[in-house]
Amino acid sequence: MQKRTALVIGAGIGGIATAARLAKNGYDVTVLEKEATPGGRANQIVRDDHRFDIGPTLFLMPEVWEETFAALGERLSDHLDLRRIDPTYKVHFDDGLQLELTSDIGRMQAQLEKVEKTAFTGFLNYIAEGNKHYKVSIEKFVGRNFRSLFEYFSLGNLPLLFRLKALKKHYANVSEYFKDDRLKAAFTFQNMYLGLSPYDAPATFSLLQYTELAEGVWYPMGGMYAAIQALVRIAEKLGVKFVYDAPVKTLKVKSKKVEGVVLQDGREFEADIFVGNADLPYIYKELLPASGEARKLDDKLYTCSTIMFYWGVDKVYPQIAHHNVFLGGDYKASFDQIFNDHTLPDVPSFYVHAPARTDPAAAPDGQDTLYVLVPVGHLDARSGQDWDALVNRARGTVLARLAKEKGAGDLRKHIKFEIVYQPKVWQERFNLAKGAAFGLSHNFWQVGYLRPQNRHRQYKNLYFAGASTHPGTGLPIVLLSARLTTERILEEAGTIAVQNMNHATRHAESVTYKA
Ligand SMILES: Cc1cc2nc3c(=O)[nH]c(=O)nc-3n(C[C@H](O)[C@H](O)[C@H](O)COP(=O)(O)OP(=O)(O)OC[C@H]3O[C@@H](n4cnc5c(N)ncnc54)[C@H](O)[C@@H]3O)c2cc1C
Repeated sequence: MQKRTALVIGAGIGGIATAARLAKNGYDVTVLEKEATPGGRANQIVRDDHRFDIGPTLFLMPEVWEETFAALGERLSDHLDLRRIDPTYKVHFDDGLQLELTSDIGRMQAQLEKVEKTAFTGFLNYIAEGNKHYKVSIEKFVGRNFRSLFEYFSLGNLPLLFRLKALKKHYANVSEYFKDDRLKAAFTFQNMYLGLSPYDAPATFSLLQYTELAEGVWYPMGGMYAAIQALVRIAEKLGVKFVYDAPVKTLKVKSKKVEGVVLQDGREFEADIFVGNADLPYIYKELLPASGEARKLDDKLYTCSTIMFYWGVDKVYPQIAHHNVFLGGDYKASFDQIFNDHTLPDVPSFYVHAPARTDPAAAPDGQDTLYVLVPVGHLDARSGQDWDALVNRARGTVLARLAKEKGAGDLRKHIKFEIVYQPKVWQERFNLAKGAAFGLSHNFWQVGYLRPQNRHRQYKNLYFAGASTHPGTGLPIVLLSARLTTERILEEAGTIAVQNMNHATRHAESVTYKA
């Protein structure tokens, strides 16, 4: 029997993982990627022996990764040398307070009680709630497909939405556990790496603090890109063909089907099914015929963007830890400036990654590789954004704080080269709508069945896998997206039994395939 064919548009982690899963299930799969190499936002930059991960630096939820590798017939530990990073972060406040978030309970207690007498009890209760949120979310919401509003708001699910505090805001919720504003910030800033404000994000997101401290923040030796390379290797072994430098220009559609894709250079490809891994709003707007749905996507809420500095430095700064967070100014006002005014806050907060602390090969001997992420608003024509000026101001803030709080006063003169990414780069190079670095936002109205679904309503052979479809952004969550999309494709092709689809972390071996 002839194999069914699949074309995947984009070799981000979502595209690679879906392609590999489909190939494992008997599909003849081709991936079309506009860039010369795979990885998308999880790609890397190598210059003069300095190695930077472009986007993700935190390897979270290892069990989700393990499930992906197992579903492809492989073992994670055969491909990745994972190191646990603990303390996870050093958090610096602009009044001089420093906290090291760690899974060492004794050390947490000592640090928290210095700030607030009852904070340790608050912390234990908060993490316990995060555990509940994590387990219930993965099991009942994030790790399954929803086919109708009725199924999403079913009598079984409604009480769970309340248990997950989906209608309560994360910041309001953390205020029940801590009184000190700095502690409230220390246990909500993590929303930022999903591109969300804790004042908008559901309280469900306390699951992030739980996963970091209980399941760990990990680092694959070789950088996060080592995980992309491993998945590509496995996909190729399963027969997936990757075509690089192949930007898709348009999807050819006929009534209820996509029939093929046309590349910018005029080459055409056909297949039985198509998977869009490029950002979903971009596919609706730029690759498909104009539609009401595409226009509606414009009005949705988007995550923030970032200014990035990738610095090759000719000196080591050992006082800068692997993961460092610098919080400053009025916490609420800074989120308002990012999410309402779409700009750089007056007092920007930022994150610094120094991978050579764990992985010396990330920098030449005696030198350093520094990655700086400064959250900013996404592109917005009405906000009068002057990105050159904002980039300069962001750089000034980062250097000043590293000088003052880390004794790195000479850093500016030791920077050998600088690469800057800002919202226009996220839009132009990565085709991310509005330059929103993390895709569509995750407020109550944009999660679960309310998020754009992983199959197009009209074109029934067009599926989506990636950060802006269900369940959402972040590498492990996109791996879940790849699993859910594959399961939907297999189910709709009649090759997988529906009852196996609701458990996020079950191993591939336990799935009964009919074919
Ligand atoms: C700065 C930053 C920091 C982050 N930190 C973390 C972190 O620490 N931990 C974590 O888990 N997650 C993190 N994330 C989120 C994570 O990187 C993303 O959720 C994830 O990489 C998205 O993967 P994806 O496959 O959905 O999309 P992408 O990575 O965007 O992949 C889409 C692919 O489609 C390609 N493409 C686009 N248009 C076309 C076209 N027309 N034709 C062909 N190909 C096309 C693109 O080139 C790209 O390769 C971070 C993201 C950013 C930006």
